[in-house]
Amino acid sequence: MTIVKGVEVAEGLKQQMMKDIESLGDVKPTLGIVRIGAKPGDLSYEKGVRKTAESVGLEVKTFELPEDIAQEEFDKEFMKVNDDPTVHGILLFRPLPAHLSDANISRMINPDKDMDCMSPINFAKLAMGDESGYYPCTPEAVMKIVDHIGIDCQGKNVVIIGHSLVVGRPLGYLMIARNASVSWCHVFTKDTIKRCEDADIIIAAAGVPGLVKRAHVEKAGKDCVVIDVGINFVDGKMCGDVAFDEVAPLVGYITPVPGGVGGVTNTVMASHVVRAALKAVKGNK
Ligand code: NAD
Repeated sequence: MTIVKGVEVAEGLKQQMMKDIESLGDVKPTLGIVRIGAKPGDLSYEKGVRKTAESVGLEVKTFELPEDIAQEEFDKEFMKVNDDPTVHGILLFRPLPAHLSDANISRMINPDKDMDCMSPINFAKLAMGDESGYYPCTPEAVMKIVDHIGIDCQGKNVVIIGHSLVVGRPLGYLMIARNASVSWCHVFTKDTIKRCEDADIIIAAAGVPGLVKRAHVEKAGKDCVVIDVGINFVDGKMCGDVAFDEVAPLVGYITPVPGGVGGVTNTVMASHVVRAALKAVKGNK
């Protein structure tokens, strides 16, 4: 069994990014983070993104807005960032407070600055396999991990546990584009364990601590790859969706939490900002 560490996957991406940043001369790729309020989860995500981005030479600007901001005011403030030529990419923390419209913002964001695939234009590009768009960072990070391990997804049975618009669903599109056979499981799936029996790759993205257990992997075989996207906190300690200690000895590869997918996600985010800056400055795709 091999524990696949996110830091090893991210290293290759960082090397490429640094070359690209050098080619930009005096222009510093800049990420604008739009945060409403100061939820602990958002602050912790922001800290991780900032650390990764700054470590490769990106600039990060945070635009913090009050939690009770009205829709009209929010749209106005968001458009200022959207239209700011010194901001190459935008990350908006979601879910938004209930009184604000997600759909509104998804349609307003400039698709060229949409670093985490909020815009329906980027989502359509993802579904169509058009690589000129920005795919959601976490599913892209999962694909980078699969590539790092050296797995050819063609013909592989891939079980994705979770079908959200930000992780599970787009990840299925990326896998299908590689000719994998995808099975999506979610909260209403009756036979998740049975579907896992023939899996070559299992990706847990449900947000349920310890959801994937021995029973999910014992028939899948020693070559099975288990990628844990989940980020949960139990008794103040971060953990994933996989019961690591009982699953790890039974599989070929596994990602830990912390230290797995999260760091790769932040690096993919930074790489999107570099791509956006290259596009703004040089007209690259
Ligand atoms: P979400 O709540 O939007 O979706 C959860 C999905 O899991 C849904 O499809 C739901 O049907 C399914 N699900 C819930 N309980 C289940 C169960 N018992 N059995 C099977 N399926 C079940 O969550 P999300 O935004 O997709 O995030 C999922 C997890 O990934 C969370 O823990 C989140 O914190 C984490 N996450 C990690 C990263 C990263 O970079 N590592 C990025 C984004 C999200």
